[in-house]
Amino acid sequence: MIAAAAAAALICLDPGHGTPPAIGRQVEPVGPGSKTTKIKDGGGAAGEAAVVLAIAKRARALLLARGYRVAMTRTGPTIRLGDGNGNIARARFCNRRHAALMVRVHANGSTDAAQHGVSTLVPAWHRGWTDDVYRPSLRAGRALQRSLATTTRAADRGVVRRGDLTGFNWADVPAVLVETGFLSNPSERRRLQSGAYQQRVARGLAAGVAAFTARS
Ligand SMILES: [Zn+2]
Repeated sequence: MIAAAAAAALICLDPGHGTPPAIGRQVEPVGPGSKTTKIKDGGGAAGEAAVVLAIAKRARALLLARGYRVAMTRTGPTIRLGDGNGNIARARFCNRRHAALMVRVHANGSTDAAQHGVSTLVPAWHRGWTDDVYRPSLRAGRALQRSLATTTRAADRGVVRRGDLTGFNWADVPAVLVETGFLSNPSERRRLQSGAYQQRVARGLAAGVAAFTARS
């Protein structure tokens, strides 16, 4: 009998949005056992669902080339996970696969068109919800933010801890959310919609994942 090669780490990519509006309007608890609820999906910035899917697909190709296994919460315009199709379902999809990291891919929108740059959100510490994934998520967030800022040369808005994100609070695997730029900023919007820039974002994501998993 030949010993099996160590299984490659699985990276879970979660392109944001793409929820049918009737489902997006539904609410779900922000964390296990919480009485506080939030809508599943407000739809995101205009054009966001398509842009983040394109980036995630490019990141998947780069990660596969680096030898990772990759699972995606959606590969088409609409989320089809069953299980409510909200952020709980997205987290559970990654939990079930024991992902080494869940990477949620988003783009920002603001009423201030001058706002621009990249940031990475990570779970805030919450006993019973994120205490088990807080440290590795923060470490992954720092790695992804550093490489994303490098490959895009966009303004570095840093790593931000968030306690209000359902998809983080239900995650049992390390999780980060990259805000890959502002679709409300005309020049950043143009870049985000170009294949060349999407590829730079994807390269940043793949390099950040590699930096994180090398130390896990
Ligand atoms: Zn979004």
